[in-house]
Amino acid sequence: MYKMSLYFCIIISTLFSQQKNYFQQEVNYEIDVVLNDDEHSLSAYEKIEYKNNSPNELSFLWFHIWPNAYKDDSTAYAKQAGPNSRFAKSDSSDRGFIDSLDFKVDGKKIDWSYHPEWIDVVKLNLANTLKPNQTITIETPFFVKLPGEVFSRLGHTGKHYEITQWYPKPAVYDKKGWHPMPYLNQGEFYSEFGTFDVKITLPKDYKVMATGDLVDGESEYLWLEGLTSKTDSLNTLSEKELKEWIKNDQKIKSKIALDVNLENSEDNPSSRMLSVSLESSKKTSESYTSEPSSSDNKTLHFRQSNVHDFAWFADKNWLVQKGELTLQNRSDPITLWSFYLPKNAELWRNSIEYLHDSGYWFSKYYGDYPYNHITAVDGDLSAGGGMEYPNITVIASMPSKDLLEMVIMHEVGHNWFYGIIGSNERYYTWMDEGLNDYSNIRYWQDKYGDANERFVLIPFIQDKIGIAKSLKYSWFNYIQYASSAKSEKVQPLNLKADEYTPANYGLNYSKTGVFTRFLHHYLGEDKMDDIMQEYFQEWKYKHPAPEDFRSVFEKNTNKDLTWYFNGALKTTDYIDYSIRKKSGRYIVTNQGTMNSPVEVVFYGKDKKEIERIWIEGVDVERDIKAPQGARYAIIDPDEHMPDIKRENNSTRSNVKLHWVWDQPTYYDHDINFTPWFNANYYNGFTPGLLFYKGVAPGYSGVTAFEAMWDLNNKKIVGKISRSFNFEENLFNESTLRFNGMRLHGNTGGRITFNGRITNNNTHDFTALASHSALELSALDSNLYSEGDYTTSLLQYSFSKNTKGIIDDVSFKSGIMFGKNFLKSWIEGKTKIKPHKHINFQIRGWAGDFYNDNEIPKQYRTYLSGGIDPMFSSYIYDRTGRSSFAIMQNQYVQKGPAFRGLVKDGGSFVSSTSMTWGINLDLKTRFSPNIFYDIAGGDDYNTYSAAGITIGPVIIPLYQSWEEVDRRAKDVKWVSDRVRLQFNFNLASLLQ
Ligand SMILES: [Zn+2]
Repeated sequence: MYKMSLYFCIIISTLFSQQKNYFQQEVNYEIDVVLNDDEHSLSAYEKIEYKNNSPNELSFLWFHIWPNAYKDDSTAYAKQAGPNSRFAKSDSSDRGFIDSLDFKVDGKKIDWSYHPEWIDVVKLNLANTLKPNQTITIETPFFVKLPGEVFSRLGHTGKHYEITQWYPKPAVYDKKGWHPMPYLNQGEFYSEFGTFDVKITLPKDYKVMATGDLVDGESEYLWLEGLTSKTDSLNTLSEKELKEWIKNDQKIKSKIALDVNLENSEDNPSSRMLSVSLESSKKTSESYTSEPSSSDNKTLHFRQSNVHDFAWFADKNWLVQKGELTLQNRSDPITLWSFYLPKNAELWRNSIEYLHDSGYWFSKYYGDYPYNHITAVDGDLSAGGGMEYPNITVIASMPSKDLLEMVIMHEVGHNWFYGIIGSNERYYTWMDEGLNDYSNIRYWQDKYGDANERFVLIPFIQDKIGIAKSLKYSWFNYIQYASSAKSEKVQPLNLKADEYTPANYGLNYSKTGVFTRFLHHYLGEDKMDDIMQEYFQEWKYKHPAPEDFRSVFEKNTNKDLTWYFNGALKTTDYIDYSIRKKSGRYIVTNQGTMNSPVEVVFYGKDKKEIERIWIEGVDVERDIKAPQGARYAIIDPDEHMPDIKRENNSTRSNVKLHWVWDQPTYYDHDINFTPWFNANYYNGFTPGLLFYKGVAPGYSGVTAFEAMWDLNNKKIVGKISRSFNFEENLFNESTLRFNGMRLHGNTGGRITFNGRITNNNTHDFTALASHSALELSALDSNLYSEGDYTTSLLQYSFSKNTKGIIDDVSFKSGIMFGKNFLKSWIEGKTKIKPHKHINFQIRGWAGDFYNDNEIPKQYRTYLSGGIDPMFSSYIYDRTGRSSFAIMQNQYVQKGPAFRGLVKDGGSFVSSTSMTWGINLDLKTRFSPNIFYDIAGGDDYNTYSAAGITIGPVIIPLYQSWEEVDRRAKDVKWVSDRVRLQFNFNLASLLQ
């Protein structure tokens, strides 16, 4: 049904686009708003001129009143945020709303009502139908209570204000009809273009920045300009001096806040102390003021035409920086403003440069910035990242300068893809986010080409320690796409913003970004510029849909771009080409599901490029004759093609070493190395080196080799592993893994196959074959038998995540074959949550043996936990000689998993017959966790034990088999019986 209707929509929309019946409504606003910064509210009056440019008569209008998104748990926003969000947990007094609405049309009161589903959408029923080309005036007062923290993008923190999506606004009416939509955190924009005239009244000491230019604002601009001299002089300081200044500035602020609070509190001394300490910690972390404002008000009049939204921001503490951008084809320069909190002065010192370069490059790529200012404000935006509004963007705190530049560039870029080209972001998120993301990659390449397009996320690690030192911005985008491109849960780009899972929403950015960058590379820069500039000219201040974007390309190129417009934008098909050399010929194979063009580059002597060709239409395989002198070939050596498996893109086989980790080249064997060690009781501390390859998207597996020196026994020890990941066979995901080891008395190897099927439940199938040669000197002879052992194992497990009283259910069943035995078991687990602070877990296990003569000790069933007979986990001591010995002191939840330690005549109680165990755990919020275990079997009586666990420490308080005292009688009784539960699988980190 779903696919059918989607297909139908595509046909209809194609028809529409062919009809060229484009129109758009015109909406002009006049808003008068007063900020009350004691109550944190807005009182406003809005007057809208609405012109019906459609060929249809309208009997009603949909309006968005989005501040109501923050009103209660019933809103679409609240539901999207989910029950664990800050919003869901907030007090109702901290939420926001809009009210006092009283709509009039052409001066007459009209009838209006809420949308049946959403309280942030209303319907205005017109007394007289609105005819084509007719204009009406709609007016209403409104009152907004601002959320007490910035939940998504509207609200205040102390006296810092972020006023976005705050006024009643008509929904878009286009050729497809009305588009009423509730506010959502993602993919929110689709609005009519027009002119905004907004008068903001607020205390005089606020610095305000908004969409649009000030009308008669000379004195305000003069005041702001005057403030820049302080910032400019700060920016002459060295990094160290500036940091020092920030430290002092923050100290002074928190002291003021403390004094203010002491004076204000009238309560008794003890509660005053409490309020002071709470307040001071809040102040130092936020540095937002709540000091009283000037009693004098000012009214700022902002005006902007050809925009579809208006946002404003106000703060008294911001530092102000100003700059200018001159464009070749524009007579007047563009003013650049950045407003930031003193605490971020060091990070933001180059913010004007970021604004300048963003404005410059985007203007160059697409067309000149048409407005008069580009502004960024520091908002500590809690939604994270940044947010775009016409002319102005708000940016959250960022951990590095490159990240700040990235976010500023991205949000400024939205002036083109969102601001000037106003696509329906809820329907075609990629048209805003993705085309912007592509431009961002291009910006980084153009600006930082000489610096290898380097991207610094964590300066200390990349600059000082030298890990990931050559990370590129474009690769960063590639991995975001490639890491999920083949996942079973991946979604295509033609869904509505609210149909994406949180994990897939980002593909609107990264997938569009990397594919459009590849399209650019394929078409060439000049062609791409021509097309995108034509798209910009044709659709500026309009609402293009994907078919409009496509038709500009089709008009300008004869190339078959189906792979991009259908493959990349409408399916989850992916690219995977490989190349191999066979007796002087080169064979390119399409291992992917998309038939994109592919670039092959041949190299001769001394790594010299000798030929670069594009091949198209490789369905299966293509045999290419190499040019004279070719030594090797690389597919897409500059990494423009979003090939999900890049390790097979080269016939070259050089080795390239990287310290700890670096971005792989893929065409060489990129081997990372790092100092490494193991530590266990038998081998002691074993220092060495770890070499590994393939921990990144673009590879289909990992190879790792640990070589270490055993200082205790004076010999080389180590591990080696190789894994291969597969998708889309019988299973949704599967892995084949080879492991070899010489460590802790075991010399052996293992082959493991894991296959996973995911539907509503997860099914895992495991097949494993293992060989071990055990040295008894390294092992506890009570638990392990010396010799060579080959065993194999088959296991099936099932798990289901359920929400509700029964929280998780899992089931496991396995069978193990040894030389002269066979062992089988079943295990079931569930979690019951009758209340949010009560968590009751039940685990049951039962196992049995066949041919039970002479079973090696490590394969027996131990009553009191597992001993990892296949050496797949990290166990500190298997010798039994230390006070961290397996079984004696370390407990592993395997088999009957009895938490009390049962011994019989000095040896641990074990069985080669039927055994069972039940483990119960009660976790509450306040008391320690309580456990009760019971176990028995053919060889034993029934045992029971009870106690508590605190973190990893198991503290038995009752043991049924004790001959003297069954109950804990003193500290010694307890300390003799304490065990630790930890299952620290170090090896699995790299497997
Ligand atoms: Zn964005």
